[in-house]
Amino acid sequence: ELREGKSLSFETTILNKYGHRVELHVTDTPIVINGRIVGIFGISKDITEQKRTERALRERSERYESLKKYNPNGICSIDITGAVMGANPAFERITGYALHELLGRDVIQMIVDLDEFPEARTLCTQTSVKNIELQVTHKDGYSVDVSVTSVPIIIEGEQIGCYIILEDITEQKRTRQELVETQQMYQRLVDNSRDAIGIMENGKWVFMNKAGVQLFGAANESEIIGRDYYDFLHPDHHEASRKIVEIALSGQEIDVAEVKWIKLNGMVFDAESHAALFGATSIQVIIRDITDRKRAETNMMNAEKLTAVGQLAAGVAHEIRNPLTALKGFTQMFHQTSTEANRRYFEIMKAELERIEMILSEMLVLAKPQATHFEQHQVETILREVITLLSAQAVMKNVMIQTDFEQGVPTVLCESSQLKQVFVNVIKNGIEAMPSGGNLLVRLKSRDKNVCIEFIDEGVGIEEEHIPKLGEPFYTTKEKGTGLGLMVCYKIISAHEGNMEIHSTPGKGTTVRIRLPVE
Ligand code: ADP
Ligand code: MG
Repeated sequence: ELREGKSLSFETTILNKYGHRVELHVTDTPIVINGRIVGIFGISKDITEQKRTERALRERSERYESLKKYNPNGICSIDITGAVMGANPAFERITGYALHELLGRDVIQMIVDLDEFPEARTLCTQTSVKNIELQVTHKDGYSVDVSVTSVPIIIEGEQIGCYIILEDITEQKRTRQELVETQQMYQRLVDNSRDAIGIMENGKWVFMNKAGVQLFGAANESEIIGRDYYDFLHPDHHEASRKIVEIALSGQEIDVAEVKWIKLNGMVFDAESHAALFGATSIQVIIRDITDRKRAETNMMNAEKLTAVGQLAAGVAHEIRNPLTALKGFTQMFHQTSTEANRRYFEIMKAELERIEMILSEMLVLAKPQATHFEQHQVETILREVITLLSAQAVMKNVMIQTDFEQGVPTVLCESSQLKQVFVNVIKNGIEAMPSGGNLLVRLKSRDKNVCIEFIDEGVGIEEEHIPKLGEPFYTTKEKGTGLGLMVCYKIISAHEGNMEIHSTPGKGTTVRIRLPVE
C-alpha cells in the first residue's frame, strides 16, 4: 500500500530500552517526489496511557453490565418522563414483560395500581425513595409483593431519569406471615391452656394467661401484672421459692410438688408448680390447681373407709344378731314371770337390747349389697311418705315440717327404700337439733340435670371444725346417738351417684343439701 502512495496506520507494541512494554500508534506516510517514493515519513505516538484508560473504562462498564444482568433485583432505568430506557432480566422476570414491551413506556403506570398505592407517585423524583412496599401487577394478572427503591440518575449535575429497583419480597412476606401465625398459635396455646401460665421478672408478674387470671380470682390480668410474685405465694414457701428462682435463672427446669398459693381474695389453694427460665431473666411459672384432685382423693379415702367399716359391720352385726335374739327372748320370758320390783330392771334391759338392735340394723345397711332395686321414682312421693311417717314425732317435739316442692321435678333412678332411710335420718337429725321446737323446711327442686333436696332447720347448728367429722362412723354429740346415721346417708347417696353437702351456722341452723342425678 505504501508503494501505491497510500499512508498506513497501525498499533503495535514494542519493548523500550528499559525493557518496558510501550504501546504505539504508528502512521507511516510515503514521501513521494516526482511520482517516486523516496522515503517514509513515520509518526509514532505513545498510546500506553490512553490504552490503559480505555481498558479500565471498558472493564468498568462490563462490570456494571454484569451487575445489572445478574442482579436478583429488578432494575429498570426510566427517563424524566417516566419512559423506560432499559431493564435487566430480573425486572423482566418479576413483571413478566420482555424488555421490548417495556421500552419507551410509562412503566410505573403499567405495573402499579396508583389508586391503591398512591405512594408510587413519589418514585422518580429528585431524591431517592427507599424500600416502599407495594404490589406490582404481573403481566399475567397476579400481584407480586415488592419493595421498591428509586435512585436518581444524574449526569453532569443534571437528573436525566432514575433507576427503579424492585425486590421480590413474596417469600419474605410469607415467612413473616408464617412467623406471625406461629406466634399466634403459641399465644392461643398459652391462652387456652387449662394450667395457669405466668411469667415473672425481678419478682414481679409480667404475664398471666386466662387460666391464671381465673385461678387467682382476678377480673383481668391487670389485677395481677406488675404485682409482687411473693404476694401470691404462701409465706411457708417464700424461702424455698427464692432458691428455686435462683436455680431456674441458672437454666434448670424445676418441678415443685405442691405449693400453696393465695388467691386475690386471700383464699389459699394447693397447686403443682413448675418453674423454668424464660428468655434471659424471666421465669415461666406453670401452676396446676389440684384442689379438685385433692378433694377426689379425700372422697376416695372416705369411700374406702366406708367399705372397710361396712365389711366390719357386716361381720359384727351377723355375729351379734343371733346371741341377741336369744337374750331378747329370755329377757322377755323372765320379764313376764318377774316380781313387780324386778320388772323395772327388765324394762331397762329390754330398752337397751332394742337400742343394740337398732344399732345393728343401721350397721347392716352399711353391709348390704348396694344397687338392689333401682327404679325410676318420683322423689316427691318418697319425701311425702317420710314426712307423714315422722309427723307425729315432729309434733311431739314442737317442730313444724314445711314443704316447698317445685312442680315437674323429673324422676330419678333410685332404690326408694334406701332414699327413704336417708330422708328419715336427715329429718330426724333436724328434729333432734331443735330441742325447743322450730321449723324444718324440706325443699325439692330441679337444677341442671340434678334433683336437689334441701333440709333446712333452725337448730343448734354444727361448729365449723366438726363438719369434716360428719359421716365418720360413731361420731355423735347425742347422748343416745349412734353416730351412724349420716354415714349411712353418705353411703346410700354415693351409691346413687349423687352428693350430699352440709352447711351450718352454729346457733342459727343447718342445711343438708342432697343432689341426685337425673339419668
Ligand atoms: P346421730 O344422729 O346418731 O348422732 P348422725 O350420723 O345422724 O348420728 O349425726 C352425727 C352428728 O352430726 C350428730 O350427733 C350431730 O352432732 C350432728 N348433726 C347431724 N345433723 C345435724 C343437724 N341437722 N343439726 C345439728 N347437728 C347435726
Ligand atoms: Mg341421726
